[in-house]
Amino acid sequence: MGDWTIRFSLPFQKEGTDMPDAESYFRYIVKEIHTTIVATTDDDGLPVTAAIDMMDSDENSLYFLTAKGKSFYNRLIRRGFLAFTAIKGEDTMHSVAVSVRGKVREIGPERIPDLFRKNPYMNEIYPKPESRQALTVFQIYEGTGEWFDLSQKPIERASFSFGGATERKEGFFVTQESCIGCGRCISVCPQKCIKKENGKAIINQNNCLHCGRCMEVCPAGAIVRV
Ligand code: SF4
Ligand code: SF4
Repeated sequence: MGDWTIRFSLPFQKEGTDMPDAESYFRYIVKEIHTTIVATTDDDGLPVTAAIDMMDSDENSLYFLTAKGKSFYNRLIRRGFLAFTAIKGEDTMHSVAVSVRGKVREIGPERIPDLFRKNPYMNEIYPKPESRQALTVFQIYEGTGEWFDLSQKPIERASFSFGGATERKEGFFVTQESCIGCGRCISVCPQKCIKKENGKAIINQNNCLHCGRCMEVCPAGAIVRV
């Protein structure tokens, strides 16, 4: 589809590289946000949401627990897939949202003592060891994620993958050989995230809203959505 110029810098990068560091995003979700809104689908394929605390993470995984009697548990087992969004901030313009979608599997009760130690409030919900026998732990082990920070000016966006999943590069890109350098896209971009280099437009992917206005006005059809 042509020669796209992709600019990609990230709030969390692996040290000494320009690679996104999923572990740092996961740590942020667990430590800074914690409660997420998780979507699964029911047997009719319709979405259902639930508030779920992300209780631990490592390099390639997030961990949470649920009770086996919940319909949420059945949906996780049947689908093996979920999506969630976690938001931190007082209002829209001072908020960070992190969204993750990926494969999930039950790993059983072995990690429950560790999750209770790291999340001591759980002792108030399930005070007695017998009551914890209803619980089991799930691991989100392969997928993709997106960081969206409206508190930055311009806004900040980044994506990452984990567990071997292929990172999805979504957004709007300028096909360099088609760009005639007219500058119309630059004049309409609400985030001022397009600039010219060597007479051609370049979109800074890290600041793009994905509004699509640049593509609408381009007279050369040089901007594509991926
Ligand atoms: S999609 Fe919107 S925010 Fe992104 S470069 Fe185009 S006009 Fe700017
Ligand atoms: S509007 Fe299209 S042709 Fe004009 S500078 Fe932007 S990308 Fe290039």
